[in-house]
Amino acid sequence: MTGRRARAAVLALATVALAGCTDAAARDAGGTTHVVTTSHPLQWVAEQVAGPRVVVTNLVGPRGDTHGFEPSPADVVALAEADLVVHVSGGLQPGVDAVLAQQPPDHLVDAAPVADLEGDPHFWLDPRRLAEVARDVGVELAELDDGAADDVDARVAEVQAALADLDEEYASALAGCRGATLVTAHEAYGYLAERHGLQQVGITGIDPAVEPSPARLREVAEVVRATGARTVFFDAAASQATAAALADDLGVATDVLDPVERVTADADYLELMRDNLSALQRGLVCEG
Ligand SMILES: [Zn+2]
Repeated sequence: MTGRRARAAVLALATVALAGCTDAAARDAGGTTHVVTTSHPLQWVAEQVAGPRVVVTNLVGPRGDTHGFEPSPADVVALAEADLVVHVSGGLQPGVDAVLAQQPPDHLVDAAPVADLEGDPHFWLDPRRLAEVARDVGVELAELDDGAADDVDARVAEVQAALADLDEEYASALAGCRGATLVTAHEAYGYLAERHGLQQVGITGIDPAVEPSPARLREVAEVVRATGARTVFFDAAASQATAAALADDLGVATDVLDPVERVTADADYLELMRDNLSALQRGLVCEG
């Protein structure tokens, strides 16, 4: 957090402390439940579980960058006033981690322990891990609104079934791909690779804003030559130039894998994940 942001955040905290009791009163009167999420996959899963008396607000705007997102003073207020916050801790968004440490929410789903994260934040690219988060969002929403508990349970079951179907589609489509090399610009696919026995080779690393060193580019080129990988995957929103130049040098194709970190007008989580599966089927070197 910059100094200016930090001071603004402290001012916002003071304002929120004064406003706290009216917020609780509104909730007791059977009003709307306000859920605040801090990335698009979390927004999607919260919206699937949320019933008609729930409003889900995502802090990162449609074109905003999930990595390193810095909450504004208004976002700090939104986090404090939320009935439920759904976040992934552990450094994807250190600015949000700091605000939540200062003003711990009454109801928080932190995807990091729930989805059993191992450092890499991109857990939503393994649908089974996102299904775990859906369950915990459901538990919290049912606690916040007793009357909606049955409805919430049904919605959780529905989204978990959709995520299980997606996982099954991946597993059957990629069954012949165990051991295949997945060369990606943005190293976001560790959980996906782990699930399906792929070897991920990232060019820029877990944070796509970090430029790869010439040494790293040489290493990746070496792996591509040694494994016979035929595609370099990149994220349409970031690190395209480096990935394209490397693919060109090596005489291999490029294709798009979407880390599902931005909202697009015409594709939700499930659609983006199915587009990714098609790209993997086109680009990986698999048996049969
Ligand atoms: Zn990412």
